[in-house]
Amino acid sequence: MKRTIEDLDVKGKRVFLRVDFNVPLDESGNILDASRIIAELPTIKYLLKKGAKVIICSHLGRPKGEPNPKLSMVSVAKYLVQHLHCKVRFSSSAIGKEAKEKVNELSDGEVLVLENIRFYKEEEENSPVFSAKLAELADIYVNDAFGTAHRKHASTYGVAKLLPNAVGFLMGKEINTIASVLENPQRPFIAILGGAKVSDKLKVVHNLIQKCDTVLIGGGMAYTFLKAKGLDIGKSLYEEECIEDAKNILQEAENLNTRILLPKDHVCSTIFSPNAIAFNVKTPYIPNGMIGLDIGPKTIKEYVSVIKEAHTIIWNGPMGVFEFVNFRNGTKKIAKAVAKNKGKTIVGGGDSLSAINSLRLSDKIYHISTGGGASLKLISGETLPGVEVISDK
Ligand code: AMP
Repeated sequence: MKRTIEDLDVKGKRVFLRVDFNVPLDESGNILDASRIIAELPTIKYLLKKGAKVIICSHLGRPKGEPNPKLSMVSVAKYLVQHLHCKVRFSSSAIGKEAKEKVNELSDGEVLVLENIRFYKEEEENSPVFSAKLAELADIYVNDAFGTAHRKHASTYGVAKLLPNAVGFLMGKEINTIASVLENPQRPFIAILGGAKVSDKLKVVHNLIQKCDTVLIGGGMAYTFLKAKGLDIGKSLYEEECIEDAKNILQEAENLNTRILLPKDHVCSTIFSPNAIAFNVKTPYIPNGMIGLDIGPKTIKEYVSVIKEAHTIIWNGPMGVFEFVNFRNGTKKIAKAVAKNKGKTIVGGGDSLSAINSLRLSDKIYHISTGGGASLKLISGETLPGVEVISDK
């Protein structure tokens, strides 16, 4: 068990709190959806109540190591002013003179928001010098950013090595819930994987076939597997360099007696566009010139019946191009079936969550994970640097 904030005496201490406030903003910098900040408030309020000086650090958007006023954490600081009953300060730099001065001005029970940590290229490089500069600001490090726990960055890993550390409430809930579900999963245990990039998920698929009874694959990643089986996939998305690995995974699953199910029919179009017209293709292979953009009715029926029988379910990634209105049916039907299941269901990943939320089904899911990539890696048995670096109790 990892040390949590409740195991530390934070009174009067400067606490560096790494959070995931990567919230969507409009052109004027207004926050469009504050759910990530709202979810973090219990950890912040707890630390404030205990008399800590809370230094908040997050990334926001993809500034690629350069300052970008449109992605400033000022918007977050303004939001916190309205939602916390304490003084909230802002530092326009995350390290150096200004940050140090602002930290020194903090009284117990006050908050300082640092500027977007990804304005510094050293963050993603996990630079030891940069980590040391961050560590200078604080006495204690707390990681509550589960969504970035699979990244070995300065603010998620490097700085944690230099200070006494703990996880916050959000991170604690993620790792404990996922661990408890996986410790002794009720069977059938199934995984549903979708999304575009098969290269990101090959290792996960490989790990999951060792643990699950059935793995259902949909979305763009299905086409690399179908091609690996020798089927024509028309103009569908696939990754040539992953074909060999996909073949090996299919073979290994067979040896392990784990079922990997792939689409048996598709919803296709000739173009990749929001206005694309949908054609049903009733075969597992796809005719020349067609692009597979969603799973078809036969596949939906088969996947739904597997989901119905399952007692433990992990779902990550859409079954089709969910953004295009004609190609979201598969993802919606899977979302409904997962929500209907009374077993332990864990859903992660932006598009899967959008599907669940748009159908107002989130209260029917056992655990909604705030970190798509991080939860998949954790579930499949990989260690997350941002968790591993935190001391055990
Ligand atoms: P990922 O980030 O890998 O989870 O992928 C999410 C993206 O996968 C979404 O933007 C979907 O539009 C995309 N996607 C799902 N199915 C397909 C498909 N058949 N072809 C191309 N992109 C897809």
